[in-house]
Amino acid sequence: MGNRADLLLADLKRAGLKLTPQRIAIVREIADDLSHPTAQALFDRLRPAFPTMSFATVYNTLEALTRRGLVQTVRSLDQGGAVRFDPNAEPHHHAICDACGTIHDVPVERVDVTAMTLPSIIGFRVLREQRTYRGLCSKCTASPVS
Ligand SMILES: [Zn+2]
Ligand SMILES: [Zn+2]
Repeated sequence: MGNRADLLLADLKRAGLKLTPQRIAIVREIADDLSHPTAQALFDRLRPAFPTMSFATVYNTLEALTRRGLVQTVRSLDQGGAVRFDPNAEPHHHAICDACGTIHDVPVERVDVTAMTLPSIIGFRVLREQRTYRGLCSKCTASPVS
């Protein structure tokens, strides 16, 4: 998925963002990370290589990617409800494990009928749909929580 990082970088450049070495590293870190990391997790991972990097730089870069629809955000009640970032910009749902907190991508086959009837029920125009399923992942099902 190295191409994904190049795509994101090209788009940020078009948006007028200066591509500093720190920003490039942040984009490369999130582009291939499908674990839905928090900004803090990315910051902790990058800090050894960039000791002068500030948390704000990480957060603002992720924010810029999100604003341009290149990265999605997922909010989970775990980890203090911190926003988690998702480089998979395709429409998809999430399955969150109650035991270990991992977030899995669930492909969307078709738009749900509920979403299609919302305009007639409450006059709400649906732009995208993101459902969250809660439960136990295959690993945690295999070893039940005590
Ligand atoms: Zn689990
Ligand atoms: Zn996702």
